Amino acid sequence: MKLISIVVPCYNESEVLPMFYREITKVMSELKNYRFELVFVDDGSRDDTLAQLKSMSHSDNRVKYLSFSRNFGKESAMLAGLEHTTGDYVAIMDADCQDPPSLLPEMVPFLNEGYDCIATRRVSRKGEPPIRSFCARIFYKLINSISKVEMVDGARDYRLMTRQMVDAITSCQEYNRYSKGLWQFVGFKTKWLEYKNVERAAGETKWSFWKLFKYAIEGIVAFSTVPLTLAAFFGILFCLIAFIMIIVIIVKTITFGDPVSGWPSLACIIIFVSGVQLFFLGIIGEYLAKTYLETKHRPKYIIRESNTSDIKIIEPKA
Ligand code: UDP
Ligand code: MG
Repeated sequence: MKLISIVVPCYNESEVLPMFYREITKVMSELKNYRFELVFVDDGSRDDTLAQLKSMSHSDNRVKYLSFSRNFGKESAMLAGLEHTTGDYVAIMDADCQDPPSLLPEMVPFLNEGYDCIATRRVSRKGEPPIRSFCARIFYKLINSISKVEMVDGARDYRLMTRQMVDAITSCQEYNRYSKGLWQFVGFKTKWLEYKNVERAAGETKWSFWKLFKYAIEGIVAFSTVPLTLAAFFGILFCLIAFIMIIVIIVKTITFGDPVSGWPSLACIIIFVSGVQLFFLGIIGEYLAKTYLETKHRPKYIIRESNTSDIKIIEPKA
């Protein structure tokens, strides 16, 4: 019988965990032709998530848990989970039931149809603040116009993958991880299932607007170098404008003489151009900072405790 591993990143999810566990066990008992393994990753929770995971693992030997030494973020939690799975197939699911476990039985049959990945897409953003949905739409338009890897609007991290695809994902060992891009980057045959947004069962979202904004910048920096090229484009454009202005001024001076004028406009131009320069320095700085972080080869997560014997802590590459 094939083994399906289910990775569940959890950060302060004690309110929803019992419900999630109930739902997922129901689904697992429906899928009789498969064995299961649940890999919970406690991402440095401050509530009693870990205690709950421990008691689950005592009563159910399918439950594995990994507990981080601090909060490393969902990206690290997903990576750790994937790296500790042993299944022939691997699913990733949020703990808050926003990725409905009941969709899993619909995903599994596609594995026999030759798909490597069955991914999910929200087709509505019901229950989300309108400003958030609006910014998300703009973000997807922007990133898809400047990145070679296509990011799918509404795509969730909720998906079921073959071992081959999981190995491809874990072989991407960058420090600044942006999974929405990585899923697409590794390719493979993907079947998209669509569903209407489900609101969080309980507890609250860990994503503030500012965190999402930073995550969006992360995505752009990780999957596009177009912002760097923009600096060159604007440089050329400004040179051209300056060149035309020089000709205009020379012609004007020759025909009308040289009265001293135009100082306010000059000041405006200087401020504008230095603003543009600083802006692009900032963009270059952003890429430089990411490169700096990558070169340190720090571990992406540190496990404090676990009930799996094969704790893997990523060794920095030489
Ligand atoms: N999560 C995590 N570490 C974090 C933030 C979130 O492991 O630092 C987990 C969280 O427990 C949940 C999933 O990632 O299982 C999605 O988080 P959340 O529901 O807050 O995000 P949203 O659904 O609002 O995008
Ligand atoms: Mg959620």
